[in-house]
Amino acid sequence: MSFKSELASWPAERVLTSINAATPADVERALSKEERDALDLCALLSPLAANCLEPIAREAQRLTRWHFGRTISMYVPLYISNVCGADCTYCGYAVRSGNKEKRRTLTTDEIRVECEALAAQGFQSVLLLTGEARRAVPPSYIGEAIAIAREYFASVAVEVYTLDQSNYEDFVQRGLDGVTIYMETYDPKTYADVHLIGEKSDYDYRIEAIDRAGRAGVRRLSVGSLLGLTDWRLDGFWTALHARHVQKACWQSAVSVSFPRLRHVPERFHIPELVTDKQLVQLILALRLFLPEAGFNLSTRETPEFRDKLIPLGVTMMSAGSSTRPGGYSLYGEETLEQFEIEDRRSVDEVAAAIKRAGYEPVWKDYDHAFDRGI
Ligand code: SF4
Repeated sequence: MSFKSELASWPAERVLTSINAATPADVERALSKEERDALDLCALLSPLAANCLEPIAREAQRLTRWHFGRTISMYVPLYISNVCGADCTYCGYAVRSGNKEKRRTLTTDEIRVECEALAAQGFQSVLLLTGEARRAVPPSYIGEAIAIAREYFASVAVEVYTLDQSNYEDFVQRGLDGVTIYMETYDPKTYADVHLIGEKSDYDYRIEAIDRAGRAGVRRLSVGSLLGLTDWRLDGFWTALHARHVQKACWQSAVSVSFPRLRHVPERFHIPELVTDKQLVQLILALRLFLPEAGFNLSTRETPEFRDKLIPLGVTMMSAGSSTRPGGYSLYGEETLEQFEIEDRRSVDEVAAAIKRAGYEPVWKDYDHAFDRGI
């Protein structure tokens, strides 16, 4: 069954009614169960559960340590292009966001230089990102960037415009092992309101994209919604449902969830549903209880203090030393347009030290392509 069909049985009214109807006994039951269903998730996301985060946090910590140990996988984003023809109203790269800084697509030589700089810092896992510009950044270019990145990193993932299964298959041949696709929001009306121009405005094509990547043999699949576009409980619930769907539909892949929260946006955009720290913590804890085996990713959009606090509460992956500008690591500094402002500006070593201080081990490499060949 497609995820869109599954989603149809959980419209906003049903989710909100279930969340608001949750009783203390429902929260207690959700907390003590071994396997949680969608109604348990509603109870854990409820305003009532917000008053008992401590026992939920203890269970989230227990589950995370059971499945992942005391480890945090480290990765770094590498923007290879900021050219974009789409108009997503919340994004600094959007064609009508009014930014005058430079647009640039890195040449293959420039990609190499950036990869070298990041590999020298110890990274073994990279996430390549682009805007949506099929002419300036065709799938063949992305494929070439993947092949180059594989020369430097054990693990290469992409966060690019959505593609056909055959494109993902080609990427896998070139060494890709991860695809990240945020639905941004699962609410079709909000989705249409914020995605004004471009292929991304096709809700149906995007919502099925992660399944296409899974069918193409991509080993790591990551979903998420952009928190702040709608009621966080709704998009949080739907994201969790999506992750569980992908776990079943693409059972050979590892599934992870990201929690990007809108903080800095272009002037023309107003964040409709600002998410507080406490709400984000509740969301991460609730999702951990619902998805015990999923990796959880927290990016440098969040402050150092907040990221450090979340280390023991369910997070399993972190970026560090990030730039959201093409060439931002070694070539162009702050010359090129950034996608969004980074909050955690600590160096890689500082983030790794903070992880160790929390009693966790930063992991630079958790995968080798030899596994694929059964060696
Ligand atoms: S979110 Fe992606 S597709 Fe939309 S404007 Fe930004 S870079 Fe372009």
